Parts: sequence; C-alpha cells; structure tokens
Amino acid sequence: MELTPRQALIVDIVKKNEPITSEQIAEKLNLTRAALRPDLSILTMSGILDARPRVGYFFSGKPARNIISEKINNIKVDEIKAVPVVIKEGSSVYDAIVTLFLEDVGTLFVVQEDGSLVGLVSRKDLLKIAIGNADIHKIPVGVIMTRMPNLITVTPEESAYDAAQKIVDHQVDALPVVKIEQEGDKIKYRVVGKVTKTTITKLFVELGKA
Ligand code: ADP
Repeated sequence: MELTPRQALIVDIVKKNEPITSEQIAEKLNLTRAALRPDLSILTMSGILDARPRVGYFFSGKPARNIISEKINNIKVDEIKAVPVVIKEGSSVYDAIVTLFLEDVGTLFVVQEDGSLVGLVSRKDLLKIAIGNADIHKIPVGVIMTRMPNLITVTPEESAYDAAQKIVDHQVDALPVVKIEQEGDKIKYRVVGKVTKTTITKLFVELGKA
C-alpha cells in the first residue's frame, strides 16, 4: 500500500511515541482530530497501526498485509499439484495425440525408460506436426518435444505463487513438478506432478470461496 506523505508522518509519530492518542497526534501535526480521522482509519484498517481503546495507537510492525499474497506464498506446489500424464520418448506422435484425448490433458511429459523426465509435448507441438505431411505413426515424440534443459520446472517445495509466476513469465500452460535426484555424476528429474493453468484457476476459486 502506497502511503501519502501525511500517513507516513503519522506512522513515524506513532512509532516513536507509542502508545499515543489521536489528540496527541493531532496536536503534533497541528490538525484537528476530525481532520486526522480518515488517515487513522486507513492506517488501522490496513493493519499498519493498532488502536487500543483508552490507550492509544501502536505501530503493529507489519506492513500492509495482503491475505491473498500471504496465502499463495505459503501454499506449496506439493499441496496443489495435479497428476501428470507421461509418455515414453519412443512413442509415436499418433499415440501422443490419442493419449492427449483419452487423458483429457493439454500437455504430456516425456520420460525415458527409467522414468526420468526428458521433455514435454504440448497441444500445439502435436498440431504443428499433424498438419504437415509427416507420418505421425512413425515419428517419435522425442523428435518434436521441447527437451531438457529447456524445460521450465518447479519443485514441490516452491510456492503456488512461484509456479504461477513461471507460467505467466514463460507463457506456458503447464509445468512439471520435479524431484531432482543425483545418480553418480548424472542429474535426473523425476516427475511427481504438474502445475497447470487449471491448477492455478482451481486454487483461485478455492481462495475466493474462503
Ligand atoms: P500450447 O500448445 O497450448 O500453446 P503451451 O503454451 O504450454 O501450449 O506451449 C507452447 C510451447 O512451449 C510448446 O512448444 C511447448 O513445447 C513449450 N512448453 C510448454 N510447457 C513448457 C515448459 N514447462 N517448459 C518449456 N517449454 C514448454
């Protein structure tokens, strides 16, 4: 919340003199109590100042708190992640399209035989290859996928806000949720979920309900 110069001055006075009554604040500012009232209401309603009856105003020590921002920063990807649909690197583009319809998803995560994430294919990736003259029964998804290390991923420990920010910044529909594992000198990514625009919309609806 952006404070006006007078509101900032009031906060400063309260910080230095707490507890302080509205009369005393008004006096310091050469104002009437009535003139001060709107600013004091804004500062108490936004949580910057605490008002205790018959004692006075205190500085709450907290910046203007925003409940939504607190919530979405505290909710972890692990709590909101959805079930990912994966497909093997060698599967055909045709199989990928069928899987997209059967599973009713927009993005498929492509994994190696050992289950580690190597890429992903989106609706548009599949459409692009399907409208050409290519034989989609013969082309493996591994050839057309967006591959590691170019994937934007999230970990279960990141916040819902971090995930939404990545979706917006990178203009993608889905992020694989990965656990990073070290095997010898190789780093492997195990897909444990996904966060998509739908996941974020569902969270938005939940927060709205509450
Ligand atoms: P759509 O096919 O509906 O446009 P996206 O906007 O998610 O779906 O995908 C746009 C492009 O970005 C595609 O080429 C896709 O492979 C790629 N892409 C999608 N998700 C990611 C991601 N998490 N990381 C990197 N690239 C991605």
